[in-house]
Amino acid sequence: MVGDDMNLDGIKGLGIKTIEKLNKLGIYDINSLLTYYPFRYDIIQRSDLSQIKDQDKVIIDGIIEKPPSIFYFHKKMERMSFYINAGNFLIFVIIFNRGFLKNKLQVGTKVTISGKWDQKKHMIIASNLYFGLITQKRIEPIYHKVSGLSNQQIRKYIAQAICLGYHLEDYIPDNIRKKYHLLEKEEAICCIHQPLDEKRLKQSIQRTKYEELFVYMLKMNYLKNNKKSHRGLLRNVSFNEVQSLIDLLPFDLTKDQRTSVQNIYHDLNSPIRMNRLLQGDVGSGKTIVAFISMYINYLAGYQSALMAPTEILAFQHYQNIQKIFQSYDIRIALLTGKLKAKEKKEIYKQIQTGQVDFIIGTHALFTDDVIYDNLGLVITDEQHRFGVSQRSSLKNKGITPDILYMSATPIPRTYALTLYGDMDVSNIKTLPNGKKNIITTLKTEKEIKDVLNSMYEQLKQRHQIYVIAPLIEESDKSSLTNIYELEEKFNRAFGKLYQIGILHGKMKPKEKEEVMESFQKNHIQILISTTVIEVGVDVKNATMMVIFDAERFGLSALHQLRGRVGRNELQSYCILISNYEKERLNILTQTCDGFKISEEDFLLRGSGDIFGIRQSGDMIFKMADLKQDFSILLKAKEDSADFLKQLNNLPDIQRKKYENLIHKAVNLD
Ligand code: ADP
Ligand code: MG
Repeated sequence: MVGDDMNLDGIKGLGIKTIEKLNKLGIYDINSLLTYYPFRYDIIQRSDLSQIKDQDKVIIDGIIEKPPSIFYFHKKMERMSFYINAGNFLIFVIIFNRGFLKNKLQVGTKVTISGKWDQKKHMIIASNLYFGLITQKRIEPIYHKVSGLSNQQIRKYIAQAICLGYHLEDYIPDNIRKKYHLLEKEEAICCIHQPLDEKRLKQSIQRTKYEELFVYMLKMNYLKNNKKSHRGLLRNVSFNEVQSLIDLLPFDLTKDQRTSVQNIYHDLNSPIRMNRLLQGDVGSGKTIVAFISMYINYLAGYQSALMAPTEILAFQHYQNIQKIFQSYDIRIALLTGKLKAKEKKEIYKQIQTGQVDFIIGTHALFTDDVIYDNLGLVITDEQHRFGVSQRSSLKNKGITPDILYMSATPIPRTYALTLYGDMDVSNIKTLPNGKKNIITTLKTEKEIKDVLNSMYEQLKQRHQIYVIAPLIEESDKSSLTNIYELEEKFNRAFGKLYQIGILHGKMKPKEKEEVMESFQKNHIQILISTTVIEVGVDVKNATMMVIFDAERFGLSALHQLRGRVGRNELQSYCILISNYEKERLNILTQTCDGFKISEEDFLLRGSGDIFGIRQSGDMIFKMADLKQDFSILLKAKEDSADFLKQLNNLPDIQRKKYENLIHKAVNLD
């Protein structure tokens, strides 16, 4: 079975609740279930305790010797401990937040423990616990999960899908598969989820990476070959009119902003369709360039759509664009997912009948219900958040709208050229006048007093502060504990004098918006937030950002976060709090150059960080890592270019398969 039949109905034991959880992981059908890959593997093989050193990873099995005891701390955290008899040794085991297993861990139960070895105390701090002894070496796939869904469950569903024998389309052409001795797709998928030996697993992973990169480069090469034939819309706008808008702005454009506007003006007036990436550091002023582009498009009589990754950002753009164009006769609408059905309907109607010119919104802009009257320009903000599939669904919406992507995460040039080979690029390298570097310091948790003092300095000057709370996973309960603990802490220090607000992913959109608005209006002075999503939020009076557990983030992510401060001429500060990875984090204390930072990120951690968190469904690649697998990418690029040349000589069925793939992605009329 292929395509539309592959919904999740065939999997047993899936209720609506579970399906919702799977959706959160980007799993909507059998295909996305089978391509939901483990992010790592545990190799279960008994460690030789006489050989291992202090703090080494260890796996050991044994029999529970004494019933577990549980110790509670921090409101919702718990620590369970027990002894196991591992043959010659009696070992003390500590494991966090597994209290729910207590009743199953009775004396005599056989268990396998993996974790870190503490030589002195003869103790293991366990990260995982399996039931049963180790009979033979085995490889355990570990998946990213959301709360309420276990690794075991995910494996069970995937195992069922494998048993059902669904056919997955294999896009590696036969001759290439033979040339590189690659495994068959089905075998590889099966092996990735149920690995039996390491060598086979490696081959399976390699093959899957190659396919991802091949398909991606096939599309890119296709786009590139056909670029010149992409007929765009005809416009004949005079730059004088654009200039008169620029003259009315409250500030002068920077040189790079002017050049970007020129590039875009030229693209829009040319008969070839625009496909441009606007890169610039956080705070470099991409938004105004977007607004001017929309104005050029408006002058030619077309609608423009601006898509932001979150509701808060969409709303902020909406407010700003209204301000800029208040003296113009331009009709502007905001369309987000949370509008009431009736309101949406009304806006749909206005869009379809051409009663609005600028439409600002979230993904809601490109659902099937939205039909544009004459969409001429599509702009997506924070483009790296959108996967290829979303990028392409945009292209479907107008006749041939021009497209501008904006990104605050520059990727190193070599990668950019390969990855976005079909795009033109404009860079904004300098920050607007008067912008100072954000002074960044690194502190350990022990130095919290210093941090509080620095915060107080800012508060006394009537400035505001963002605090990013420790958080592992949005749906994780313990992170909510953390955020409330922080609130308590800051309340003790500042509560008498200042207002403290909280923002996290579990709040309703309306509550979030209220908090953001209070912060914007300076009714709240300290905003504690778990989320990392609202990168572009612009509160000019905020001059300090404090980030807890900074080591959890990639450098680029941290750089983006701190870009929320320093939004006017006030000197701004960022304090990174971490007990680990001092050397890496120190890079941020030394430079504010986003390009340089992203290079370092690539060197240190690979592309996962740059394109979003590994588990997010929006990743460009599910398996491949741009940096690690760059040589595969180059091969795939070459191979796919050769392959494209021969596409027309293929048998009909084969050719159709690839044409479908390309057209689905590219949405060429
Ligand atoms: P980003 O590139 O991160 O999206 P924004 O477009 O949000 O940055 O711009 C950051 C801030 O800088 C905004 O408050 C904006 O009004 C201001 N800004 C943009 N361009 C200029 C300029 N040329 N001179 C002064 N301020 C500017
Ligand atoms: Mg922005």
